Amino acid sequence: MQQGVVVKLDRGYPLVRLASGALIRCEHATSLVKKKTDRAVIGDRVQIELPDGHEKGIIEAILPRTTQFVRKDPTERAVPQTLASNFDLVLIAQPIEEVNFKRLERELVLAHETGAQVAVVLTKADLVSERTQFEETCKQVKALVGNDQVFVVSQEDPTSLERVAQLIAEGDKTAVLIGRSGVGKSSLVNVLVGEEIQETTPVRESDGRGRHTTVSREIIPLPSGGYIIDMPGVRGLGLWDAEQGIRAAFSEIEALAESCKFRDCSHQQETGCAVRAAVEAGTLAPERLESYLRLKEECADVQAKRVEAERIRTRRGHPRHRAK
Ligand code: GDP
Ligand code: ZN
Repeated sequence: MQQGVVVKLDRGYPLVRLASGALIRCEHATSLVKKKTDRAVIGDRVQIELPDGHEKGIIEAILPRTTQFVRKDPTERAVPQTLASNFDLVLIAQPIEEVNFKRLERELVLAHETGAQVAVVLTKADLVSERTQFEETCKQVKALVGNDQVFVVSQEDPTSLERVAQLIAEGDKTAVLIGRSGVGKSSLVNVLVGEEIQETTPVRESDGRGRHTTVSREIIPLPSGGYIIDMPGVRGLGLWDAEQGIRAAFSEIEALAESCKFRDCSHQQETGCAVRAAVEAGTLAPERLESYLRLKEECADVQAKRVEAERIRTRRGHPRHRAK
């Protein structure tokens, strides 16, 4: 039995990198195939058998995941789908010339929910010529993110990516890159790698957005150290059950709330609210509190809808997990 890491998935056959660096195409053992939930995903550490005279390795076991991106189904009818695992850092890409703050706050929650370290990469710096706009956007993003892990980069200027490369290299991290299509993820990977490995497509004239055609996910080694995974199309990463992610993304607010006078303080009007006091004292950005309250409310709404859907389903005599 040997141990390896799934570095690529195509046509259903995981490509596994062994400790020796050798790459071997694998298939799942019958015992795993039977359990529909157990499929290796990119980043998984797996145990494989290399039977004589067999051209593929056999994945016998998938080791427990330390971090993972899970696509959940709000209706809970489908099995949650894991998209990538065992990464150390999530990089959220947004174009600096038009940061979508609503989207960013969701991306932050989803990123924190994985349990990995989180940083934001503002792309296309060359498109913002005005210094004040540049600085204002950075300030707003930092206020929302709640830390200084915000990097401004441009594909036109490879040196702008040095700090990102350094962050990934420290501790030999595996980073996952997420963000809307067209924000410049593939371009970023190409600059980090130092060559065109991810296909990018020209910006469409009409809306200034690019589209790209990367379909398979892959763990790409970087010359400066560490690895990066470009995760195209993380659509469907919804906010259901994101409470844990919200708590992690807004840990300083959760800590402040411990000192609120009322246990169930909503941090709106109550007396003795430590969270509002921090906003008034200038130690907590009002944007962060707004964003926190909005996301909590949305999460509660989704959960209420789900409880309702569940109630209707059971009344109709459709238990949640029907026997297959
Ligand atoms: P992805 O969909 O997130 O992978 O985005 P791409 O990397 O394919 O980039 C989308 C479009 O934005 C392409 O036309 C890129 O040339 C363009 N682009 C990416 N990075 C930059 C940048 O730093 N500056 C400018 N001006 N354009 C960029
Ligand atoms: Zn409070």
